[in-house]
Amino acid sequence: MTVTRRIATEEAFATPEQMAAIERMIAGGTRDADSPFWSMMARGQTPFAQRVMRQLLDLEDERLAIMDAHGVDMHVLALTSPGVQTLPAPEAVAMAERSNDLLAALVKRHPTRFAGLATIAPQAPEAAAREIERAVTTLGLKGVMINSHTNDEYLDEEKFLPIFEAAHALETPIYIHPRAPSAGMAGPFLKYGLETAIWGYGAETGLHGVRLLVSGLLDRLPRLRIILGHMGEGIPFWLWRIDYMHRNGSGRPRLERRITDYFRENFVITTSGMHGPEALRFCIELLSSNNIMWAIDYPYQEAADAVDFMETMEIAEQDRENIFHLNAERVFCIPPA
Ligand code: MN
Repeated sequence: MTVTRRIATEEAFATPEQMAAIERMIAGGTRDADSPFWSMMARGQTPFAQRVMRQLLDLEDERLAIMDAHGVDMHVLALTSPGVQTLPAPEAVAMAERSNDLLAALVKRHPTRFAGLATIAPQAPEAAAREIERAVTTLGLKGVMINSHTNDEYLDEEKFLPIFEAAHALETPIYIHPRAPSAGMAGPFLKYGLETAIWGYGAETGLHGVRLLVSGLLDRLPRLRIILGHMGEGIPFWLWRIDYMHRNGSGRPRLERRITDYFRENFVITTSGMHGPEALRFCIELLSSNNIMWAIDYPYQEAADAVDFMETMEIAEQDRENIFHLNAERVFCIPPA
């Protein structure tokens, strides 16, 4: 059996200055819904926190060894959530630039093992648009990652349009990655720790995706490509009902196409951290395997599980090839092996 190229498309890293900034904010009493998770991580008192913090900050040693051990050819890397989006704008803009420079240098050292998605500071939309252009044209990064809300605002707001215009002009994809729910929705999630990956990240990011879908953004910028992780953050399961209610509701912009059409033509989903075979089969049937990319969500989840999931899926070999690497090569303009 020939071994399929494996490109993992939602892989996280951190920089020491990003972690120091998060620790400063927690020490200063930040109350956003990401704080409990990062307080736990910063205290480093659990084996999970110790391992993940170490693996986030490692770029070329343990990471490459684990990739090799599981036959993972490439990580498409992005600065871990919440990126620089919790920082004051000037500090965030400068840190995003340094992070992107560091990532580009890493990719240059390992061009067959790593590709990179740029970090931006949406809280400074014009600077963010300029950084997208620099990251793609000068640094050779392959897209942009934005970690859902920024200061409780969502990207369909008019002020963020320069970010999408820049991505659209460069035909570069924007990956909307989770973070904990914004202030207006976070309260009921906090009991039982539901604000994290167990449910809150998906609820937050699914809402974000639906806001973009109904906002009219994709009629204004019809070649825009949005990526959602975690098997589409729940949206695929809801598409029929969203279409039905959209036709029969009011108070929303009139759209040129059905929500399902935008989701099929403008969105790509990844399997990050969702290793349920029934969910993947459903998404292949609904969206086709051309719209699904494989991901691990390293280091938060295990490479072994993600590889095993994809290797043992009972699907057509063409579907496996599409999901393991062909779609990532197309969406991120990664040269074939
Ligand atoms: Mn992730």
